[in-house]
Amino acid sequence: MSPLESFLHEPRVAYFSMEIALESAIPTYAGGLGVLAGDTLRAAADLELPMVAVSLVSRGGHFRQRIDADGRQVEEPSPWEPHDHAVPLAAKVALTLEERTVWVTGWLYVLQSHLGGSQPVLLLDTDLEENCAEDRRITHQLYGDDGPNRLKQEAVLGIGGVRLLQALGFEIRQYHMNEGHSALLGLELLRRHAHRAEELRSGESPYDLPLVRGLCCFTTHTPVEAGHDRFDHGLVQRVLDDFIPLAMVKQLGGEDALNMTLLALNLSEYVNGVAQRHAEVSRRMFPGYRVHAVTNGVHPHTWTAPPLRALYDRYLPGWCHEPELLVRADCCIPPAALLEAHAQAKQALIERVKQRTGTQLHPRVPILGFARRMTAYKRPDLLFADLARLKAISAERSFQVVLAGKAHPRDSGGKRLIEQLHRHIRELSGTVALAFIPDYDMEIALELVSGSDLWLNTPLPPMEASGTSGMKAAFNGVPSLSVLDGWWVEGCIEGVTGWAVGSATETGHEADATVLYDKLEQTVLPLYYGYETTPGGWVKVMQGAIAKNASFFNSHRMMRRYATEAYIG
Ligand SMILES: *Cc1c(COP(=O)(O)O)cnc(C)c1O
Repeated sequence: MSPLESFLHEPRVAYFSMEIALESAIPTYAGGLGVLAGDTLRAAADLELPMVAVSLVSRGGHFRQRIDADGRQVEEPSPWEPHDHAVPLAAKVALTLEERTVWVTGWLYVLQSHLGGSQPVLLLDTDLEENCAEDRRITHQLYGDDGPNRLKQEAVLGIGGVRLLQALGFEIRQYHMNEGHSALLGLELLRRHAHRAEELRSGESPYDLPLVRGLCCFTTHTPVEAGHDRFDHGLVQRVLDDFIPLAMVKQLGGEDALNMTLLALNLSEYVNGVAQRHAEVSRRMFPGYRVHAVTNGVHPHTWTAPPLRALYDRYLPGWCHEPELLVRADCCIPPAALLEAHAQAKQALIERVKQRTGTQLHPRVPILGFARRMTAYKRPDLLFADLARLKAISAERSFQVVLAGKAHPRDSGGKRLIEQLHRHIRELSGTVALAFIPDYDMEIALELVSGSDLWLNTPLPPMEASGTSGMKAAFNGVPSLSVLDGWWVEGCIEGVTGWAVGSATETGHEADATVLYDKLEQTVLPLYYGYETTPGGWVKVMQGAIAKNASFFNSHRMMRRYATEAYIG
């Protein structure tokens, strides 16, 4: 039996995502959206919930980040070779873009669960001899450029993806769009299920919207208007031509431009945001739509460092399949064993920091970790708003900071932030140990979330739809100090799972920085160093993060909810 055939005997949920983080060596992801897609499939593999993922092959990857002598991000190519990880598929499908036939094939990557299950992942590829040079490059670069090629990528993903699934013999019971990039799949389904002209009375539409909506669900990730993909109708017409009548595109995707989020909303019966707060924001942004909330979760085995895995295997066996068991972590895991496992993870991070940056960190001094896409709303500079105050805090009780994150190549603000962080590293040298690990990826992420003592997140509300790195930290017994936005609104129990920066309502750069400094100075660092005054105080918060956050903010709870509410419901 070919590897593909073993996946064709039962109906599956098709999960469409522009990016997917399969493993560190396969750079088909840019950040949180791709990691979530990977965790979704990993959870489905653990739970043996039949799915098939559809994404782009992105042979050119995203980019590799180097930091030059002036502290600036330099982008280097990050190609990968699909042959090394996946098998080519024999099927080919065609679509018409700019009046040319574009052939699409794909690669089969088999995502294997350590628990035995597996899921197929199709990586779409237009690099075929039949295509002209320009079309061969459509699927080359993840988020390569805006405008025409982006629309073509989305056409290949949505339209090509649906056609390839059919050509390969998959029976699809439900289509799940992870973000709006793949929403053209709904238009392809409208075409496929259209009534024949002779069945219609005059003026009747051939398209069966209720039927297609019943087949589709949509997860939105973008809490700001500017974040939604939009395409000019002129461009849509030029690229897609008569794929579907323009009047229909306007009716479903917006009168002034094709808004992919709006299109997905109109074509999906079930719609959700990725945290409760984010669902509320989305309902305000798109009044009239029923937006559910399924708060994100992270994959237990992937995001738990080896020493912590061994600890849970010993004291809470079965936690990988049933992470709810971690709810007992506060009572069933001896504090000394937890501290020892954490010390091992911390040592691994210290070695990595030394190897990648030359900076020697101290094992007895707390490490604050901060890593995410470097962009203005994530505010990586908030911790550095007042360097004098930061130095004063550190003079009393010292701490060290490890940073990582890439800025999108076209995000000049994000790139400036990276430069600024490197200036701070120089300015604070000798007082606060600071290190920036270049080329943030899944591997660095795991080392960071497990080896830090405190996980920091300081976005500008309500911009953080969910955020997931704090959940990964919780799986490693690392508490968060974060702004109340995204998942932390649900996850924060003050002093029990970590600490909040600011109130849920009032925020501002200076006000938030002051609260951040106050919390660090008066609450967090005294507790960390409080061996004499509050013995066991810090380890209790570590246990609280595992018991109350990891037991809930995991991909298995998320997938069980999608299965019962979005796929079956
Ligand atoms: C988890 C992860 C992210 C997302 O983290 P956020 O907290 O949601 O910003 C981004 N990039 C990598 C490599 C990750 O592992």
